[in-house]
Amino acid sequence: MNIEELSIDALATQLKELEASYSELAACKLALDLTRGKPGMDQVALSDSLDGILGGSYRAEDGTDVRNYGGLDGLPEAKRLFAPLLGASQDEILIGGNSSLTLMYNVIDFALSVGLRGPESAWGNSDQVKFLCPVPGYDRHFAICEHLGIEMLSVPMLDTGPDMDAVEKLVAEDPTIKGIWCVPRFSNPTGCVYSDQTVARLARLGQQAGEHFLVMYDNAYAVHSLYPGATELPSIRDYCQEYGTLDSVFQFGSTSKITFAGAGVAFLASSPENLAAFTQHLGYQSIGPDKVNQLRHVKLLRDSDGISAHMEQHAALLRPRFEAVLATLERELANTGMGEWLSPQGGYFIAFTTRQGLAREVVSLAKAIGVALTPAGATHPYGVDPDDQTIRLAPSYPSLEDVQATADAFVLCVKLASIRQELGRRGAG
Ligand code: PMP
Repeated sequence: MNIEELSIDALATQLKELEASYSELAACKLALDLTRGKPGMDQVALSDSLDGILGGSYRAEDGTDVRNYGGLDGLPEAKRLFAPLLGASQDEILIGGNSSLTLMYNVIDFALSVGLRGPESAWGNSDQVKFLCPVPGYDRHFAICEHLGIEMLSVPMLDTGPDMDAVEKLVAEDPTIKGIWCVPRFSNPTGCVYSDQTVARLARLGQQAGEHFLVMYDNAYAVHSLYPGATELPSIRDYCQEYGTLDSVFQFGSTSKITFAGAGVAFLASSPENLAAFTQHLGYQSIGPDKVNQLRHVKLLRDSDGISAHMEQHAALLRPRFEAVLATLERELANTGMGEWLSPQGGYFIAFTTRQGLAREVVSLAKAIGVALTPAGATHPYGVDPDDQTIRLAPSYPSLEDVQATADAFVLCVKLASIRQELGRRGAG
């Protein structure tokens, strides 16, 4: 039943019971952590054969000795392996080092300070540079903007992706808006998959926005579905070709959540002109990426079928953790008016929306009994969620037992905060 329909007496009785359970949990001295989207130990172990997989054979297919310098844009066989992940062709992809976040930072820094098409085109020539940030979103994207002095404008995230009516209106009005952050499949943190229409409209932004506008299309969870038949993402690159806007989209991906987090391979795709400009810029920073690791990844994953088979093993490990959290939310909080969430079919996160003004309270109630949650506000620019409503849950890393214990403690904190708030609202707090 919705708590707004409960009598004050019924609420007060529930509150007493909840406070007793909360004290009992506090006495258990829990040490649980659902903060960051790290793969679990059993997940990274799926790729342990990377170590030593080359067996002393260091030649790439074109004869390159991968132990030596060079090959700034990556090995051809690595391009062939990863291009399909981003729906790109092999002349539209660059294979980099270990982190897609580094590539994203580098693209923004390049567009801002150097210019995608020479000094005249640098965003930094303008007094103001702004970026659209769909919220809730990924804190590290927002941190890049904040660090580089780019002003962030929030736009709502819908179940179909960013609110494109709002996005189109803003970019048409304001040419100092130079980009938008996107996590199009199993978004961080809501888990939504952008709809066909959203992807098409993002691809068309290059026609509507100011010059050198960029869609930063971070497809970090491109192949990370939990279930066969999970919603697919249409190709933004095909829409870009149709609209002549390939220059306005940079796509990113990595194997951080396919093989080893932080020791995988990252890649980006864009128009051949953008790639040429960016590669030249990269040449001032590096003589070449870690091609040994690229070759190791090609040996381990082989092709798209190899990646799919590998990802099924990840899904088998992740599914029970997601289902434990979702079943607990459903059982304890569905139709109570105490929160809302989507049930993601992939990715690494569940975003829980509390009643207005309660996210920080829930996180601090949890912290006080030894349950660490991502700080409320982290999902919004400048760390400020104006409605104080979003909490990101990341169930991948702890053991299944700990995920369940955390979910139980979490719903208790949500109920406690919600019922206290409801009683307060009725002047009976
Ligand atoms: N993008 C998103 C949306 C992520 O969630 C993460 C990891 N949490 C990253 C990028 C980081 O990717 P990488 O390890 O390739 O830098």
